[in-house]
Amino acid sequence: MFHFIESLGIDSNCYILESNVTVLIDTGTYKNYRLYDYVDDNGLQIDFIINTHCHYDHIGGNKFFQVPIYAHEKDYLDIQNATDKTYFHVFSKTFEGFKNVNPLKEGDEIDLGDYLLKVIHTPGHTSGSICLLEEDKSYLFSGDTVFKDSIGRYDLPSGNFEDLKQSLKKLCNLKVKEVFPGHGENFSGKDLLFNRYMISLIEEI
Ligand SMILES: [Zn+2]
Repeated sequence: MFHFIESLGIDSNCYILESNVTVLIDTGTYKNYRLYDYVDDNGLQIDFIINTHCHYDHIGGNKFFQVPIYAHEKDYLDIQNATDKTYFHVFSKTFEGFKNVNPLKEGDEIDLGDYLLKVIHTPGHTSGSICLLEEDKSYLFSGDTVFKDSIGRYDLPSGNFEDLKQSLKKLCNLKVKEVFPGHGENFSGKDLLFNRYMISLIEEI
């Protein structure tokens, strides 16, 4: 079963894929109690968390769940050690990072039962940004790499415009049905192809 907890303010969207194994994709800021309430109200048991990248607005809610955390090998140590790359220091002087953060890499497959998630490394927003592809259902969880009408910022620490362009090109070749971004509403994979930012960027490559 698919659960969507919509972003509010600066919080990221959160997605829960409930199956034999239940995964939470991104967790909003550390002030995101409504994620905790949602999980509690629905009697969900989270088995592990995947963070699409290391930014505070995607990882803060990790603290509500004592479960293993996964993130790309180029971002996972930032989440563990609470580096400035997470931007957490701006919001919490006492944040010391999360324990049990484990690395993911390009091509890793995570079998949940009803869902099989494939890790696609899409650097550009951060060096360790990932998208998650569910091939059977043709879903893409795009983190902050691409949104309905825009693309991710590339001016933050470890961001890189050239990398982002290559990552967007990679995503356009996937031909997915539905895209679930880190912020804002989901959109059709066709819109991914027609996204005006992406078209203009890809033409430059
Ligand atoms: Zn971000």
